[in-house]
Amino acid sequence: MNKDIKRMIADIRNEVTYTSHLIGRTAFSDKLMAVMAEVRRDKFVPPELRAFAFENGPLSIGHNQTISQPYIVALMTDLLQLEDDYRVLEIGTGSGYQTAILAELVEQVYTMELVQVLGEEAEQRLTEMGYKNIECRIGNGYQGWPEHAPYDAIIVTAAAAYIPKSLIEQLKPGRKLVIPVGEVYAPQELVLVEKDEQGNSHLKNILDVAFVPLRQSSVDE
Ligand code: SAH
Repeated sequence: MNKDIKRMIADIRNEVTYTSHLIGRTAFSDKLMAVMAEVRRDKFVPPELRAFAFENGPLSIGHNQTISQPYIVALMTDLLQLEDDYRVLEIGTGSGYQTAILAELVEQVYTMELVQVLGEEAEQRLTEMGYKNIECRIGNGYQGWPEHAPYDAIIVTAAAAYIPKSLIEQLKPGRKLVIPVGEVYAPQELVLVEKDEQGNSHLKNILDVAFVPLRQSSVDE
């Protein structure tokens, strides 16, 4: 493992340690950490920011959007408690980095992006990297992707003012959804939603986060 990646992994482990009281775990799964070490984050950031690709922080990917912080990517993934045979819905493809992490861990990933250029670039990048279990779509994630529902896990990587009802509907009973909730530029909370076998949702606030907004349309960017 090169030294930059080693440092990124150490930084994630450290942040897990000092947030363990909030996130309810003292480590992420070994399998997830192996995937975090394997997927090259430098392939997902603009060339001029490659030197910072393995810093444990968000980076700009253009169009006012960001690639999320590695610790947050790992945390959201760990919270979903993924199994090999899961079919997962992601809202907010962005660079495709989180998409790739998911694709290493589950059978099939469906990912939606509102900004057409970003979605197309991510799709091309993921195809070139050889991923065969990712389906990309340009569209508004507030409505989810009903054609492939219900999903074994749903992850939203932009902050919504409320939890979209359609996403809860498209989640299987007994499964989890993770989403940052909060108004733009206001405090946001990472929320874990667990849908029980009766179809009732149970919400758990995990920790404060700062995400770009989940927008209603691509014209207000
Ligand atoms: N997971 C991404 C994070 C990207 S930031 C990564 O690791 O790179 C959030 C993304 O959500 C942005 O690309 C933004 O354009 C997208 N987005 C915002 N509102 C959306 C919506 N309603 N539907 C789908 N994508 C949306």
